[in-house]
Amino acid sequence: MEKSRVLVVGGTGYLGKRLVKASLANGHPTFVLLRPEIGVDIEKIQLLLSFKEQGAKLVKASFSDHQSLVDAVKQVDVVISAISGVHTRSHHILLQLNLIKAIKEAGNIKRFLPSEFGTDPSRMSHAMEPGRVTFDDKMVIRKAIEEAGIPFTYVTANCFAGYFVGGLSQPLIITPSTDHVLVLGHANVKAIYVDEDDIATYTIKAVDDPRMVNKTLHIRPPENILSQNELVQAWEELIGKQLAKTTISEEDFLTKLKNMDYAEQVGLGHYYNVCYEGCLTNFELGDNEEEATHTTPNFSFRSTLIEGVFRTPYIIMLYIYF
Ligand code: NDP
Repeated sequence: MEKSRVLVVGGTGYLGKRLVKASLANGHPTFVLLRPEIGVDIEKIQLLLSFKEQGAKLVKASFSDHQSLVDAVKQVDVVISAISGVHTRSHHILLQLNLIKAIKEAGNIKRFLPSEFGTDPSRMSHAMEPGRVTFDDKMVIRKAIEEAGIPFTYVTANCFAGYFVGGLSQPLIITPSTDHVLVLGHANVKAIYVDEDDIATYTIKAVDDPRMVNKTLHIRPPENILSQNELVQAWEELIGKQLAKTTISEEDFLTKLKNMDYAEQVGLGHYYNVCYEGCLTNFELGDNEEEATHTTPNFSFRSTLIEGVFRTPYIIMLYIYF
């Protein structure tokens, strides 16, 4: 079967660049949006040029120029967006409404994968302010896609390993601890940690999978479903040392959160949902939902091994401390 032509939007971002890499590695003709607004951001320009060297095609278009978006999406079969989540009070996720309008007008897109890649927003209607903004915005996008009748796949990727594992699930820490860890409550609530390159690969494998039309793909390798206690224990085994532990109760966590700035409150709200409430693991999949490890059973993903989950933080630690 011929591989779909894939356009990655947000291709120079943290997840976006991995999606471009995975799309190329899986043999898809790969297109990357080049926004004129990036101006003289030399890092982005160089990254985009490196994609071009690897065989990607750069497509110029702006979110504020409807026709340019229509022309861009007309060149491909599948659009994957990895536009950023909440930074300060900018609602970048909602910019995708412009993309949806363009996809609807172009009329040729076989699949749209909006920027999700985290907690399933459809299960977060109870989430508190201001963290819920991420879920609310993503639900606005889902509604617009479905109303426009655009075929979609939503990807629920759970916790990015780089952010969560590196800090042993401690908020605002991403490099590994070697002497102390802040423990969130009883720390037996299970979360799910996934390597970002694996998220990109699972996502790309879904684009031509007919079973994933109008479905949600949940990336949750069973070996990566761990509590904070299990994560800390695995890390202690890896470094051959016990860490000192301080516990922060749910009540104290919520009090501390209220005194932080907006972006931190959003981020910490998500840690609260994941580590105290257990929002990633307190449900069963329903109709129209698939497990990535079931739909792609024969692929040996790095992150299905604990060593794989710790790969990045372990390397960082070796460099920093030895
Ligand atoms: P980034 O912050 O790295 O940004 C991605 C891209 O968004 C940028 O490269 C840029 O694209 C685009 N962008 C930013 N601002 C604008 C703007 N004003 N107009 C148009 N485009 C803009 O995003 P992430 O990779 O961190 O996040 C991607 C997704 O993953 C989000 O949905 C986020 O919520 C989710 N996420 C999940 C996490 C988890 O643990 N599960 C952790 C972090 C994020 P360009 O290349 O065109 O410049």
